[in-house]
Amino acid sequence: MKANNRMKLSFYSRSVNEGFARGALAAFLAQADPTVPELADIKTAVSEAVTNCIVHAYPDQVGLVYLTAALYDGGVVKITVADRGVGIGNVQKAMEPMFTTGNPEERAGLGFAVMQSFMDKIKVTSTPGKGTRVTMTKTLAVKK
Ligand code: ATP
Ligand code: MG
Repeated sequence: MKANNRMKLSFYSRSVNEGFARGALAAFLAQADPTVPELADIKTAVSEAVTNCIVHAYPDQVGLVYLTAALYDGGVVKITVADRGVGIGNVQKAMEPMFTTGNPEERAGLGFAVMQSFMDKIKVTSTPGKGTRVTMTKTLAVKK
């Protein structure tokens, strides 16, 4: 299916850009007229994905994070967050709630669980040494 509108952004994996990604995404999604809770859900999911790029994909360096958003008929929103960082060896394991390779005092291992519960569908593809791509979709309620 061809998107009705689409955007693509790339930015450095610096924590200050988590807020930039949320704000830029909200500005793009405004045209789809999401409800406040719908927008909050999407921003939360995208924050988790972007934070993962910042914290895990490029642990000792700064790299690029790629964010895309596309709008389709019927209120369907598709978002991808990708990096060219370290990648994930076992995606299924990484997506289990409470699984983390991070510092357990800082990380709960719940980022993917949050993305799954706030979006309709999430797909993660990753190649160790090459990077990771998270694709998330959500269908906005049709306005009466
Ligand atoms: P939290 O999100 O609760 O702070 P977390 O980031 O460890 O903790 P998840 O977001 O669920 O939890 O991610 C689980 C694990 O998947 C991470 O600990 C990390 O090992 C791996 N991971 C997630 N995203 C990436 C990524 N973009 N690049 C490399 N590894 C990743
Ligand atoms: Mg996380």
